[in-house]
Amino acid sequence: MVSLLTQYAFLGKVKDVNITIKREIASDLYLTGNKYRKLKHNLIEFYKNRYDGIVTFGGPFSNHLAATSSLCEHFGIKSFGFVRGQEMNTKSNPTIQHCINTGMHLEYLKREDYKLKFFSKKVQKFLSKRNLYYVPEGGSNDFGIKGSSEIVGSFDLKFDAICLAVGTGGTMLGASRSISNDQKLIGFLSVNDKSRSNYISNSIDSSIDYTLITEFTFGGFGKFNNELILFMNSFKKKYKIPLDPIYTGKVLFGIFTLINNHNWSWGKNILIIHTGGLQGIDGFNFLQKKKGGLLLK
Ligand SMILES: *Cc1c(COP(=O)(O)O)cnc(C)c1O
Repeated sequence: MVSLLTQYAFLGKVKDVNITIKREIASDLYLTGNKYRKLKHNLIEFYKNRYDGIVTFGGPFSNHLAATSSLCEHFGIKSFGFVRGQEMNTKSNPTIQHCINTGMHLEYLKREDYKLKFFSKKVQKFLSKRNLYYVPEGGSNDFGIKGSSEIVGSFDLKFDAICLAVGTGGTMLGASRSISNDQKLIGFLSVNDKSRSNYISNSIDSSIDYTLITEFTFGGFGKFNNELILFMNSFKKKYKIPLDPIYTGKVLFGIFTLINNHNWSWGKNILIIHTGGLQGIDGFNFLQKKKGGLLLK
C-alpha cells in the first residue's frame, strides 16, 4: 500500500512575496513527489490488460527508475529497467542499488543503444520475448500527464502563481490542466534543452498564462555549482525541508534569487510544488565524495 501525506509549509515573506511550499510525502521515500503521480494512471492501464510486467528507461540516478521499481515491488509486478551506460553494470550507485533491492531486472545499455531506445537491437530482442507494459523515460506519456494534473488540488487555486520544476515538461503540462483561469504557472527548466520550450508551447492550452524560466539550469541536467549546494544546505537548515540537487534545489534558488533581485513579477502569493526527487541526494553525495566536493546535508 502506498499512502500520500500532503503538507503545506509557509516559508514566510521574502521582500513582499508570500511563499508557500506544498509537499506530497509518500509512505515510501522513492514515491515521494511527481514520479508517483506520473505512474499512477499507467498502473491502472497496466491492469487493464494481461501484461507480464512493466518496462521503462532511465539514467543511472533516475528518480523515475527508482519510483517504478518501488511501485512495482509494492504491487507485486515484475519490473524491468534499461539503464543508460554500461559502466553502471559494475559500478553500482545508491539508485541502482535500490532498484536491485526492490527486484527490478536491469539491462545496461551503451549510450548509442540508449539513444535509440526501441530501435536498438538489444532492446528489441529483449522485448520480443516478453509482453511488457511500456512507460517512457521520466513517465511523461498521456497517463503521466493525467496523473500530474492531480498534483494541483482545490486549495492550491487561491495562489497567484504555482511554481514547479521542469524536466520533460510533463508535470507542468499536467498542472496546466488543473489551475484556475486567473493563475499563473511558472516552470523552472532544469535541463539545457531548447526543445522543451517548444514542446510546452505546442502542447499547453493557449489560455494558460505561463512562463518558462530558463536561467537557473546551472548549465544543464545534473549540473550544479557550490553556490547551489550551499543554498540548499542553508535552506534545509532554516526551513527543515530537504531539496534535491537536480530539480527542486534549482527552483528554490531561482525563486529566491528573482525575488531578492526585484525581478519577480508573478504575484505576491505564490505556491511552490515540491516535486520530490529526494532519493537523488544519496547518489549525489556518492559522486561528490569521490570527487571531494561539497556534500548535501
Ligand atoms: C522528474 C522530476 C521533475 C520533472 O518532471 P517532468 O514532468 O519531467 O518535467 C521535477 N522534479 C523532480 C523531483 C523530478 O523527479
